[in-house]
Amino acid sequence: MLIRASYWTWKIISGEQIPEPMPTAYLMLDGNCMYNCSYCTHARDSLSDNKFLSRITWKEIDLDSLLSMAHNFRRICFQVVNYNGALKDAKYVVEIVRENDKDIAISVSTRVLDKEDIDAIFESGASNLGIAIDVANSKLHRQYRGWDMDYTLELIEYGAQKYPNRITTHLIVGLGENDREIFEIFKKMKESNVEIALFAFTPIKGTKLEHAQMPPLERYRKIQILRYIMFEKALLPWVEFDEKGNISRLLYEESLETLDITKAFLTSGCKDCTRPFYNDRPGNNKEFYNVHSFISEYSTNKNE
Ligand code: SF4
Repeated sequence: MLIRASYWTWKIISGEQIPEPMPTAYLMLDGNCMYNCSYCTHARDSLSDNKFLSRITWKEIDLDSLLSMAHNFRRICFQVVNYNGALKDAKYVVEIVRENDKDIAISVSTRVLDKEDIDAIFESGASNLGIAIDVANSKLHRQYRGWDMDYTLELIEYGAQKYPNRITTHLIVGLGENDREIFEIFKKMKESNVEIALFAFTPIKGTKLEHAQMPPLERYRKIQILRYIMFEKALLPWVEFDEKGNISRLLYEESLETLDITKAFLTSGCKDCTRPFYNDRPGNNKEFYNVHSFISEYSTNKNE
């Protein structure tokens, strides 16, 4: 079993300091993925180095080091690449971490094959399960992920009914969908109490979509505000779309005084998930797509 830790997680586990709070540890169970998602560094045909997931470097660690430093975190998130035997390994590490600490939150993010996989992951002691939709346009979902979006939605619905408030889905903005398609998914997930973890598409060298562009920040901000109003403020906004299906107007019944809109720009997903620099490059003087802590507060990371 090959376990990797995101760079900052690895630093904490190695007893080093990082410049900001990071309540969730990010671990990856790595191997040769059986799937071939067009935007992923771990896709079967990807020419990327496996040590990357999104744009982050992941360093090898052993389970004992993780267990000895797990008390530094409120949540442990295992991103499980779908290699042969991955489910068995995922159940094993979740059981070990759960045994080590009965209260820590444990997320597993993986492409479950069927309902039995969902049950197996929760039976092993996981708190939350991330079942990614990733691609909001159903035609592109099949093209980029290789199976029907309806099947992904069926699995999410099964998990949401059987394990209420414990399913999160990942949604990537900028993979050819329009805002209306994202809004339709938001409404479905809201009905099923499924959390949305928003990502901005980030082209990575060696993947099929390495030459595609990130979505404009302005568009991403609109979608973050929409998610925030629907999921954090439990409001159903009035949304108008232009001829391309993108948001042209967004109205909601809450005065700006009470609505701290900057909170909308924070990383979304499971509780305490911050995913630092998944979609943003440190030190490039640009506003972050996903603000991972108020210390970095969507300001550029210039030294003010
Ligand atoms: S939302 Fe965050 S903590 Fe939850 S599964 Fe996704 S990456 Fe992990």
